Amino acid sequence: MTESFTAAQGSDAAQVTSGGGRAGELATALSALIERIDAACAAAGREPGSVRLLPVTKFFPASDIEILYNLGRREFGESREQEAAGKVAQLGHLSRIRWEFIGRLQRNKAKSVARWADTVYSVDSDRLASALDAGAEAALGDGFRTTPLRVLLQVSLDADPARGGARDAALHALADQVAASRSLQLAGLMAIPPLDVEPDAAFEQLARIHAALTAVHPEAKELSAGMSGDLESAIAHGSTCVRVGTALMGARPITSA
Ligand SMILES: *Cc1c(COP(=O)(O)O)cnc(C)c1O
Repeated sequence: MTESFTAAQGSDAAQVTSGGGRAGELATALSALIERIDAACAAAGREPGSVRLLPVTKFFPASDIEILYNLGRREFGESREQEAAGKVAQLGHLSRIRWEFIGRLQRNKAKSVARWADTVYSVDSDRLASALDAGAEAALGDGFRTTPLRVLLQVSLDADPARGGARDAALHALADQVAASRSLQLAGLMAIPPLDVEPDAAFEQLARIHAALTAVHPEAKELSAGMSGDLESAIAHGSTCVRVGTALMGARPITSA
């Protein structure tokens, strides 16, 4: 397969379907998913290209990522540091690939992630932000990266500290800290709605929090919300990036990460 499969739309994907096997399966699922996102954009009165699809490939092999790359995808979401670092090493020949770290991150892994991730999604404490800034600074100095590390702050929508995320004054203080960091770039917000809350209510709350933040930090444009089960609701409430695993890759062997 070649670089000619760059378009994200279904007709290119269909050419690969004839190959059958896993490549055909992923091509079919990708086309269906892009149609679903386009339909959600249309229903919300938004431009078809206004929502970015981030395929979430945790638990799936590097060979699946290579298939999706050859179908034109360039960005991939991973949530487990060790697994992700292994795939980064295996797929170093895919020159335009971009890795986005979407999982909970321990501070002792910040240095490693700052070497290979374009973006980290789950920043919710000043200590983690400081560790990532130091890691990104070292990675810039050592030539592992050439641009600042993009950061999305994770918003807590239920105030449960066990689930991670920041809110209110702590969220704004964290945004100020990241914006002032030398080697980090404040890119936006992400959230995972609590299981016991209607997605519409959760995403509406998130949109209000995002609007308040961008009033102070206009550069924090990204709003990453929506997964396989709730992406329509997230898109209706302004998501700019859906993170989709199951609806593209199939069921994971274990359910959470
Ligand atoms: C696994 C994961 C996803 C994808 O979830 P699906 O329901 O499989 O689409 C999205 N975001 C985060 C943070 C994840 O860990």
